[in-house]
Amino acid sequence: MVTQSPKSVGVKESRRDVAFTFGRLLDFAALIRAVVHAEAHIGAPLFFLALERQMKVIVMGAGIIGTASAWYLAKSGHDVTVIDRQPGAGLETSFANGAQISVSQSEPWANPSAPFKVLKWLTQEDAPLLFRPKFEWHQLSWGMRFMIECLPWRFRHNIREMVNLGLYSRDALQELRKETGIDYDHLTRGILQFYTSKADFEAGKSASVLLRQYGIERDVKTVEEAIAIEPALHQIRDRIAGATYASTDESGDAFKFTQNLAALCSARGVKFKYGAMVEAIETDEGKVSGVRLRHSTGHTETDTADAYVCAMGSYSYLMLKPVGITIAVYPAKGYSATLSTEGFEGAPMVSLTDEAMKIVFSRIGDRMRIAGTAELDGYSTHLSLVRTEALVKRARELFPNAADYDRPVYWTGLRPATPSNCPLIGRTRIQNLFLNTGHGTLGWTEGCGSGRALADLISGRKPAVDYQFLR
Ligand SMILES: Cc1cc2nc3c(=O)[nH]c(=O)nc-3n(C[C@H](O)[C@H](O)[C@H](O)COP(=O)(O)OP(=O)(O)OC[C@H]3O[C@@H](n4cnc5c(N)ncnc54)[C@H](O)[C@@H]3O)c2cc1C
Repeated sequence: MVTQSPKSVGVKESRRDVAFTFGRLLDFAALIRAVVHAEAHIGAPLFFLALERQMKVIVMGAGIIGTASAWYLAKSGHDVTVIDRQPGAGLETSFANGAQISVSQSEPWANPSAPFKVLKWLTQEDAPLLFRPKFEWHQLSWGMRFMIECLPWRFRHNIREMVNLGLYSRDALQELRKETGIDYDHLTRGILQFYTSKADFEAGKSASVLLRQYGIERDVKTVEEAIAIEPALHQIRDRIAGATYASTDESGDAFKFTQNLAALCSARGVKFKYGAMVEAIETDEGKVSGVRLRHSTGHTETDTADAYVCAMGSYSYLMLKPVGITIAVYPAKGYSATLSTEGFEGAPMVSLTDEAMKIVFSRIGDRMRIAGTAELDGYSTHLSLVRTEALVKRARELFPNAADYDRPVYWTGLRPATPSNCPLIGRTRIQNLFLNTGHGTLGWTEGCGSGRALADLISGRKPAVDYQFLR
C-alpha cells in the first residue's frame, strides 16, 4: 500500500494550484486572444459575444424557412417553440415545389426585359408569369416596386445577393446532411436547363456569362453534350437548340426534408405547436409582448418569448400589417403535378429546367415532379386546370414514356415573393421581432442558409455571408 504524508499532499496540491492558476491565466489570455480574433474576423462587437445568452424564441411558421430557423436557433442553444396552423411541418408552400436546389438559377424575375414580357403575357391564360390586376394597394405597390427592381443596377445588385445567399445556403444544406444523415430523396446530379429556341439559347448563354461573374459555374452545352448528361433528352434531340448545365446544383424533396428536420428539431428539444393559428402579434411599448393563438380545438392562449420570428411565408404580410410593419411580399401562385414513374423508363434523373415554359422536372424517388409558372392573383389557392394540365401536356409531349400521365396529383402553392427576389431576413423596428420571409422562387434553395443566418443575427453574431440583412 502506498501512503502519502499530509505534507507531501499539501505540497502537491499547492503545486497543482499554481499550475491550475497559471493554466487559467493562459486560458484567459487565450480567450481574450480568441475574442479579439473573432471580433476582427466576424466583426461582432465584444459586448455582443459577452451578452450571448440562451433565449426563449417563438418561430411562427413551420415551412422550410421556419423549420430551418428553429434548427439553427436550437443549435445555438435557444429554447425554441414553433407554431403552425397546419397539423404538421411543410404542408403549405414547401409541400410540392419544384425540388430544385438551384443556385445557378439566381436570376430575379425583375430584369430589364421583364416589363415588356409581363405586358405581352397579360392576356395569355397559360403565360409563365401572369399578372391578374386586382386594383388593390398591396398588389399595385408591389408592382411598382417590381418595376424599380427591373432597372439594370438593381438587377445586378439582386443577382449578387441571391447568389451569395444561395451558395451559402447550399453549403449549409450539405453540412446539415453530413451531420445528421437526413433523408429527402436528394440527388447531386446538377441542374440542366434546356432551350427549345435559338433565341432562348442565346439568352441562356448570356445569362451564364453574367452568372459566372458572380461565381456561378453554369456551362454552355451542345445538344449532344446535354444528352450525354441526361439521356432522357434523346427523345427531343430535334427540338432542343442547346443547354446550360450547373453540375453543383442539387435536387430533393423539400417536404420530406422539412418533416425530417422538424423531427430532428424535436429530438433537440424544440417544441412544435401544430393546429395553432396565430391570430395576432401583440405589442407593448415597442416590443412584442406575445402572440395570440387559436387552436383547432377552439381554445385560445397567448404565448410569450424573448424573441419572435415571423416565417409565415406569404401570410407574413397579413400578420405584420396590424403591428405597423408593411413588407413588400406578395403571393405568387405556382402549380405542380406529381406522377408515379414506377414501371416507366423514360423519366429524367437529372433535374431539368424547360426555359420556354419556365417549368422544372425533378425526379423524387419513384416520382416525377413538374412545377412552375407564376400567377399574381392575391391569396386565391384555386387550382387552375388550364395551368396544371399545361404542365402535364408539356411533360407528355417531351417525355412520352416517363410516368403515369393518367394519374397526376395536382397542387398549388403561394410563393412569398418580393419585387427583388431577395428575402427579408433580420430585425424589424420592433426590437424583439425578426423576419425570415419573402423567399419567392428559391425558398428551398435558400432555406438552410436563411435559417442559419437568422439564428446568428438573433444570437448577436455576424452571419458568414455577404447579404443585406435587415438590421
Ligand atoms: C410551384 C412552385 C415551385 C417551386 N419550386 C422551387 C424550387 O424548385 N426550388 C426552390 O428553391 N424553391 C421553389 N419554390 C419556392 C419555395 O417552395 C418557397 O419559397 C418556400 O416553400 C417558402 O417557404 P416558407 O417556409 O417561407 O413558406 P411556407 O412553406 O408556406 O410556410 C409558412 C408556414 O406558415 C404557416 N402559417 C401561415 N400563416 C399562419 C398563421 N396565421 N398561423 C399559424 N401558421 C401560419 C403555414 O401553415 C406554413 O406552414 C417553389 C414554389 C412553388 C409554388
